[in-house]
Amino acid sequence: MKDQYQIAVLPGDGIGREVMAACEHVLQAVEKRVGIRLGLQWLPAGAQHYVDTGDALPQSTLKACEAADAILFGAMGLPHVRGADGTEIIPQLDLRMHFDLYAGVRPIRTFAGLPTPLSHPRAQAIDLVLVRENTEGLFYARGRGDVRGDEEVFDTMRITRKGTSRICEFAFGLAERRARRLGRQGHVTNVDKANVFASMAFFRKVFEEVAARHAGVGSDSAYVDAMALNLVLKPWNYDVLVTENMFGDILSDLIAALVGGMGMAPSGDIGDRVGLFQPAHGTAPDIAGQGKANPTAMILSAAMMLDWLAGRSGDARLGDAAALIERSVEQVFASGGVRPMEFGGAHGTREITEAVTGALAEAM
Ligand code: ATP
Ligand code: MG
Repeated sequence: MKDQYQIAVLPGDGIGREVMAACEHVLQAVEKRVGIRLGLQWLPAGAQHYVDTGDALPQSTLKACEAADAILFGAMGLPHVRGADGTEIIPQLDLRMHFDLYAGVRPIRTFAGLPTPLSHPRAQAIDLVLVRENTEGLFYARGRGDVRGDEEVFDTMRITRKGTSRICEFAFGLAERRARRLGRQGHVTNVDKANVFASMAFFRKVFEEVAARHAGVGSDSAYVDAMALNLVLKPWNYDVLVTENMFGDILSDLIAALVGGMGMAPSGDIGDRVGLFQPAHGTAPDIAGQGKANPTAMILSAAMMLDWLAGRSGDARLGDAAALIERSVEQVFASGGVRPMEFGGAHGTREITEAVTGALAEAM
């Protein structure tokens, strides 16, 4: 238990800065209510910082992240800003690699009071977590494309026993914690394309080995195409999903849509030592600077961060703080009085933030 927890804050670009400012207000309100102290240190990084200085992720920022207890990340990248090699400025991938943040955790849940795009009555009770392998798979090809003239290009998919085994262990551990919290049996579904790719057949084999070590948790495997269908037809049937890097990238946007928009989807990128928490969305240049961004995904990411810190430190106050944020967000939407603009409502970043801090101050 510490007197103060140090949080490295990387607001980044576009709406990343707007939702981070909102999140800071919420965390200040939480500090007061729960009696914890968070040292939030804003640090430069991102596409605009690259334009200004030629460096998207300064060493000093990396050092501060290393020294911190957790990293809170907004969003980075701007259209038209490209690095010297012509690729997008995406320091988040460098951070993932640098800190070996192998588990991309994307929880999705519905909130009473907000409309969902699916009309089925059970679509009001979606609560699942996608665990995306973050360090290999098809993203291993990044920067390694084998371009043969103008005729042929190869990208490599890499699946290792170590990478697969640790992501599957993570998914089963998460299913066990959720099962305890929700008072029911946990279940992990592996999503692959084992019928076509040797790499994926290997992923499935390792998944099944790990599953055998967690007899208390149910498990099965599904092909990614069938999963794209079933995640729209009956998403309420799933608990924890685990999958390769690129499938995870695609499915995380799909599941964010199930609950109405990117502004509702938090995420964590977690390794054995370091945890980085960020909304699943990007910098949203189409709405940046207009006060329209829904800060909920950022706020829920901060709650995930506190929950993760609670597990590591054993400091129960941090768990209380995470639960308090989640309850306050629930309450704000349940009242029906607050509807984010991405849901066709009239409430922007400031209104939503004020509603959440208000609910927090009054919560029992
Ligand atoms: P990235 O490449 O980082 O994944 P992207 O190009 O996929 O980014 P996003 O920035 O995530 O795109 O935006 C996708 C769409 O969702 C845009 O129309 C954007 O306005 C909307 N959107 C994203 N985040 C929010 C938010 N917090 N509130 C409201 N709308 C959002
Ligand atoms: Mg995207």
